[in-house]
Amino acid sequence: MTCLETQSKIIAYIDSNLEKDRRIEFLKHIQCCEDCKEELNIYYTMIEGMRQLDSNMPLTKDFSEALDRRINLELKQSRQKKGVIQSSFVMVLIAVFTFAMIAYVNFLNLLHQEEQQKLKLAQGEYYYSETFSEYLFEPDEQELILNVKQDENEMNFYEKIRYYNVVH
Ligand SMILES: [Zn+2]
Repeated sequence: MTCLETQSKIIAYIDSNLEKDRRIEFLKHIQCCEDCKEELNIYYTMIEGMRQLDSNMPLTKDFSEALDRRINLELKQSRQKKGVIQSSFVMVLIAVFTFAMIAYVNFLNLLHQEEQQKLKLAQGEYYYSETFSEYLFEPDEQELILNVKQDENEMNFYEKIRYYNVVH
């Protein structure tokens, strides 16, 4: 906001007719511009003084101090509102981030479980077929062995089981 814009809004500010964003811009300029602050001070003293005289109110002793108090209060309020908005934004961010992390970890767990399951199955099948199929689940070979080794003492453990199954 330029000095000209600011000074054109002094009366609107004193009458509380500036909307919030404009008022904050106005006050920011006032805070760092001596000339406009001085101008505001003069108008404020005149307008508020006349208003108080008109309505037979006791006159404010120090208009400049009253104006400073009003400016500080309005700036403080705007900062607090901003703070609330910022902290709720941060809360939402944290919530979203947490949710994403949980989802991601769950996803990883699921992947891991699936991999483990596949691995187990594969290992199981491998182990199972390596260990037993040759002895127990190949009927052709079973016949062959049974025909060749009729002496039970010559059979190994698996052959004995098979022999038992066939005979009984
Ligand atoms: Zn200025």
